[in-house]
Amino acid sequence: MANYTTLNLLIGGEKITEGRETIEVVDPATEEVIGQLPKATASDLDDALANAKSGFDTWRRKSADERASTLLKAAQLIRERASDIGQLLTLEQGKPVKEAIGETMYCAMLLEFYAGECKRLYGRTLVRPEGSRVEVQYHPVGPVAGFSAWNFPAINVMRKIGGALAAGCSVIVKPSEETPAAGIALVQAMLDAGVPGDAVQCVFGVPDEVSRHLLGSPIIRKVTFTGSTAVGKHLSKLAAEDLKVTTMELGGHGPVLVFDDADVEKALNTMAANKYRNAGQVCVSPTRFLIQEDVFEKFRDGFVERAEAVKVGNGFEDGVQMGPMANARGVDGIQSKIANAKDRGAKLLTGGERIGNQGYFHQPTVLSEVPLDAEIMNEEPFGPVAILNPMSGEDAMIEEANRLPYGLAAHAWTSDPARRRRLAAEIEAGMLALNTGSVSAVDAPFGGVKWSGHGSEDGPEGVMACMVPKTVHEG
Ligand code: NAD
Repeated sequence: MANYTTLNLLIGGEKITEGRETIEVVDPATEEVIGQLPKATASDLDDALANAKSGFDTWRRKSADERASTLLKAAQLIRERASDIGQLLTLEQGKPVKEAIGETMYCAMLLEFYAGECKRLYGRTLVRPEGSRVEVQYHPVGPVAGFSAWNFPAINVMRKIGGALAAGCSVIVKPSEETPAAGIALVQAMLDAGVPGDAVQCVFGVPDEVSRHLLGSPIIRKVTFTGSTAVGKHLSKLAAEDLKVTTMELGGHGPVLVFDDADVEKALNTMAANKYRNAGQVCVSPTRFLIQEDVFEKFRDGFVERAEAVKVGNGFEDGVQMGPMANARGVDGIQSKIANAKDRGAKLLTGGERIGNQGYFHQPTVLSEVPLDAEIMNEEPFGPVAILNPMSGEDAMIEEANRLPYGLAAHAWTSDPARRRRLAAEIEAGMLALNTGSVSAVDAPFGGVKWSGHGSEDGPEGVMACMVPKTVHEG
């Protein structure tokens, strides 16, 4: 097991560790304090803003080749450092170290894709028959402020900084104060690769104070956030005061439609692993399993068997598939939602309890026949709980899938191609997985609709989200 690291702010390329108030960072597997995180002062944030202004001015003028080669170099450094970064990530967040290293490698892959996109930021020319022309150009939107959550301490941060830097924007990122080390290491890799110290910076503090300070400045032209819908709405209102552009990657409540013509074994193997990945603290986690009656019992029994087989433990132990939840409020939240569901008549098929009294471990849990008025049917559980409900048929399943105001990821399992086309047309979601567990890829947009947010990260869309068009008319 690795040692944790000295934590710092990164402002203007300088590591700031001393003379600041600090926030304790806790290992969720042991509840021990492992680090002291310096908080940026108001004057630090003002410095970061002034730097972001000058950083934008220089970085946006770099050639596409130079931006691309710098991002590729950073990707290479991240690949070389992935094992170290992954171990820090497991210490501060809890997930199995193999997943943490995989998450870090995904950051490198995303940067590599974005490096290619630097060279594909095309405009278009409209040539009029009478000889005049209209040129549509794309320009970086300006300095970006990014705020990210603790559930994916690396990739959430890379999604904030990668697209912005590829587009030619400067960026100030505030990773979660609960899981800061992975984000600091990624920003450091960007600096080591040659991104100027005023073009990428990393700050911490009291989240609401930091975001109010940065969003209160006219220097920031775009806000990008990953976290809860409630905070996303709050930041959107702050951004609206100055009409800043926003990308909001918010909560979900993933429906999983399992039809009677599905490959049930494959669906079970894929979705049970998916449900308990990162202890269910995943915005695209499968949550409401809507199962056609004919296959309900088979699916239910197979799912419970798989939930009970999940090996829970410290993310550094061999063979562990699920670590602790990342914080105490996650355990409390899930406990209260399970109690509420039971009160409303849901069946608890397995799990339901916290494990031990040290570390935020929770049993993989399965509820069934959960009524619509239970809290957990309406609010994102963000924990290791699956809801299995029998459903009568396709129309009812689509209606239930679309009932909630969320629309991030949805899954469906069916062998009928016509049904897959109908689902692709009807399901209200930013991402739909048909007969697969996969909903994200570096070259495809990742994002939601309705209360799950707007704007995309990843794919060409992740770079375009940091650009604005300028139309040049020539007579
Ligand atoms: P939260 O929204 O309060 O916090 C998420 C992140 O946002 C944290 O890292 C926090 O530091 C930051 N944050 C909070 N308030 C902020 C502010 N005013 N300005 C800037 N940043 C701010 O959520 P939580 O309590 O940590 O988790 C609870 C719920 O959040 C979950 O149930 C889930 O719905 C949602 N969530 C979603 C994602 C996602 O990937 N979409 C990630 C984490 C949490």
